[in-house]
Amino acid sequence: MYTARLLEKKLLSVNAQCYHLEFDVPELENFAFEAGQFVSMVAEDGRGKPQTRAYSIASAPRGNRFDLCLDRVDGGFFSNQLCDMEPGATAQFHGPYGLFVLRPPLEDTLLIATGTGIAPMRGFVETLFPSEVEDRSDGKHFWLIHGTRHESELYYRRYFEKAAVEHPNFHYLPTLSHPHEGWEGLRGYVQTQVKQLLQEHPAICSRSADAPAMQAYICGLHEMVAANRGQLKELGWDRKQIHFERYD
Ligand SMILES: Cc1cc2nc3c(=O)[nH]c(=O)nc-3n(C[C@H](O)[C@H](O)[C@H](O)COP(=O)(O)OP(=O)(O)OC[C@H]3O[C@@H](n4cnc5c(N)ncnc54)[C@H](O)[C@@H]3O)c2cc1C
Repeated sequence: MYTARLLEKKLLSVNAQCYHLEFDVPELENFAFEAGQFVSMVAEDGRGKPQTRAYSIASAPRGNRFDLCLDRVDGGFFSNQLCDMEPGATAQFHGPYGLFVLRPPLEDTLLIATGTGIAPMRGFVETLFPSEVEDRSDGKHFWLIHGTRHESELYYRRYFEKAAVEHPNFHYLPTLSHPHEGWEGLRGYVQTQVKQLLQEHPAICSRSADAPAMQAYICGLHEMVAANRGQLKELGWDRKQIHFERYD
């Protein structure tokens, strides 16, 4: 079991009550994990019973630090506990765990997320397109399709927009299922955008039959993950090309 000490806390969305939390692990010089993995946070509930919840790490490895991105869940035990923490407070956790990590060799890749499913995607993008060291994307194209209901829930939007401007092989496609009047961006569910992209994007549809396979990484709630896996399979993808993390 390790200690996570909260260093910084940012409210990413007032509406969704989503927080970005930055921790360090004081007892470690280096907290080793791969982007996309999760930690298991542990705390006792009101009856003294230990409760454990998984949270995807929302950052690339950096020393003994890691970030989380989480929504308050109405009546939820752990999400409220974490969202109520103030800098300096600590929580217990174990990990890292999980196989939702980028598989070598890198190929052109779809990163598909809804809501806080963006957390591991931020870790992937920080890893592939680091700001201080050389690009690790191997020249492959990465399309990040992030679906939310409203514009205010496009967590880390400025970061991804900047990365897309700086890296021509990174493409950021936010899409809203309940857009407000005047929203000029993409509309609809992530699977609609994925289908469109696979049918129309020149970088994808011009691929020759013997071009290397693409990969997809999907993260969010069960229904969305199932819809996207089903669609990709219908489009002829092999299950080995499709990686996913379900939050429920
Ligand atoms: C591998 C993995 C990684 C995860 N990573 C993240 C992450 O990065 N960020 C994040 O916000 N969550 C993440 N989750 C979900 C997280 O573990 C918790 O389920 C969530 O925070 C709710 O916990 P709670 O203790 O607050 O709610 P609970 O006390 O467990 O549940 C209270 C009520 O809320 C419902 N509920 C549970 N989870 C959700 C949810 N996600 N959305 C809406 N209603 C829910 C329950 O059905 C129950 O009715 C992840 C889950 C898994 C399995």
